[in-house]
Amino acid sequence: MQLEDVDTIAVLGAGNMGHGITEVAALAGYEVTMRDIEEEFVESGYDDIEWSLGKLADSGQLTAEEADAAAERVTPLVDMEEAVSEADFVIEAVPERMDIKREVYADLEAHLPERAIVASNTSSLSISDLSEATDRPEKFCGMHFFNPAVRMPLVEVITGAHTVEETLEIAEALAAEFEKTPVRVRKDSPGFIVNRILVPLLNEAAWMVETDAATIAEIDSTTKFGMGLPMGAFELADQVGNDVTLDVLEYLNETLGEAYEPCPLLERKVENDQLGRKSGAGFYDYENGGVDIPTDEVSEGIEHRLLAVMANETAKLVGEEVAPAGDVDQAVLLGGGFPDGPAKMADSTGLDTLQETLVELQDETGAPRYEPAAYLEERADEGGFHDSDEESEGMSFEMIRIEYPGDRVGKIVLDRAQRMNTVSPTMLDELAKAIDHLEADAEVRCLLLEGEGDRAFSAGADVQGMGGSASPLDGISLSRKGQDTFGKLESCGKPVVAAIDGYCLGGGMELATCADLRVATERSTFGQPEVNLGLLPGWGGTQRLQHVVGEGRAKEIILTGERYDAAEMSEFGFVNRVVENGEFADRAQGLAADLASGPPIPQEFIKRAMLRGRESTEAGLEIESQGFGHVMHTEDLMEGIDAFVSDRDPEFEGE
Ligand code: NAD
Repeated sequence: MQLEDVDTIAVLGAGNMGHGITEVAALAGYEVTMRDIEEEFVESGYDDIEWSLGKLADSGQLTAEEADAAAERVTPLVDMEEAVSEADFVIEAVPERMDIKREVYADLEAHLPERAIVASNTSSLSISDLSEATDRPEKFCGMHFFNPAVRMPLVEVITGAHTVEETLEIAEALAAEFEKTPVRVRKDSPGFIVNRILVPLLNEAAWMVETDAATIAEIDSTTKFGMGLPMGAFELADQVGNDVTLDVLEYLNETLGEAYEPCPLLERKVENDQLGRKSGAGFYDYENGGVDIPTDEVSEGIEHRLLAVMANETAKLVGEEVAPAGDVDQAVLLGGGFPDGPAKMADSTGLDTLQETLVELQDETGAPRYEPAAYLEERADEGGFHDSDEESEGMSFEMIRIEYPGDRVGKIVLDRAQRMNTVSPTMLDELAKAIDHLEADAEVRCLLLEGEGDRAFSAGADVQGMGGSASPLDGISLSRKGQDTFGKLESCGKPVVAAIDGYCLGGGMELATCADLRVATERSTFGQPEVNLGLLPGWGGTQRLQHVVGEGRAKEIILTGERYDAAEMSEFGFVNRVVENGEFADRAQGLAADLASGPPIPQEFIKRAMLRGRESTEAGLEIESQGFGHVMHTEDLMEGIDAFVSDRDPEFEGE
């Protein structure tokens, strides 16, 4: 079987997840049958889908016709035979109980074609055990969507002990068709990846409160404003539901041992029906004030303790070959909305520090949850999960190069002058690696991007091989790859300058859009000509350009596909400095050097606040005030004031 053989999908269960997954599949163009045990349940699921499609249409993410067409592709059913007898792929989302799932599979097997694949959306049950309740354990896997399925970009694709490679590949390809990012869980391991990291984190937060080591306010202040997580730990626990967290913990405790002993505080919350947002109260009281997290109770001790627990879980996952560190990072980034993956966060604090934190806690409390994993010790000795030596050894590239022109500037040169520095998938891979490398290099304080030669910064995507033969699936994943790679420049904590000389078109312009500042020669030419080719900008152009030039200009540039010179782009606010052709190299380097001499900590907060502010001004303002608080005790602030008073240039060190 191949992805192309999948035409009809059956979703079992029309609840919270079932209706969401059905909607996602219908939006991707599949005919979907959605089955539940009572007419009223399928109807309610169908109403939820219509409501959600309506919202997508209202917000302009779909046309009304597309929303109607998606709803029409869904057939709500109660009869199992009707629901599955034509299905090629089944996604099961019935309640999280082994007995119910077993019963459903027995019923399913009586009517399901032999060719079909079955995937369970279980959050924690063993995929191997579940697969054994079917007649097709090799064609069975986990597909763990996140709530709400329509919005959350991650799907964990989980192998069972009997699952064959083909099943996993089709499930991953299907997840990509659904416009989700699949991350493979290579062993059937309790909690898979995201829950295995998040749930022990919430448990540890609760243990800190239980043992009077910290208050809820301090922990949430630290997680939200110090670590930059999207929510405070207790805010998240209330959002997820304390009963759900406790269920997963009890399962981890049962299967993996005493390191996952649930904190009594969580148990009491569940006993007292303080389940979180859904019950009106949890750690916060939603009928009385709701969530109120102070910005100024950030504590390094709390941060280290939580990071240590996350690092230990990451080490267990990687050491047991459930997933490599990069996949753990990606899953938690997408599934938990973290600013960075847990392995990267742990590395930047220092695995040796975190290991020490665990050892101290273990000595103090004797609790098994602090016992460092063997693999953590190994990686701490090697310098981190993402070994910097290994990474720098791999720093030779085919299509780009890194240079260090001085003044703490790290330069990335697009090095394909013979092809107008066009961007290919390989170049994207190399760019991603180079950006990460320069971001991690403490000697580099500003990134400068340039194209080799004087004809082009980059004339766009390398369209060779992207013609009519590529499948929609290839298109989606290429688009995602470019969006993500260029997005690294936006989320990079250091300022980024794009130096443009010559053509800056299509994908090249989308790349330049992700820089913080742009300097261009008078002779440069800009444009998003994708529409002229029957395409659309696919590497972020439809979203990011408007933040630089405003929606009106962005629409003009993208919808007309016209070309603009540097002076016009400067008027639009896209180019910050237009420079004479002969002065290009000096002016670009000068601007980058200026930024590199700026104070790194405020620079990072400024970028983060402005990026988050795109989603919500409130979130951006929170980061701004957090940043403002953070810089108060920096040496750089003292240096800045001293330099100002004594009328000299400051020397900021990022401390
Ligand atoms: P839910 O209770 O909202 O929905 C379950 C649905 O299954 C209900 O509509 C119920 O009527 C139906 N059902 C019950 N018995 C059935 C049967 N025999 N045949 C068919 N349908 C039956 O639950 P949910 O939150 O959608 O969770 C479903 C699955 O998804 C669980 O395995 C859960 O662990 C998993 N999951 C949940 C979340 C989440 O955040 N809610 C996230 C990821 C995964």
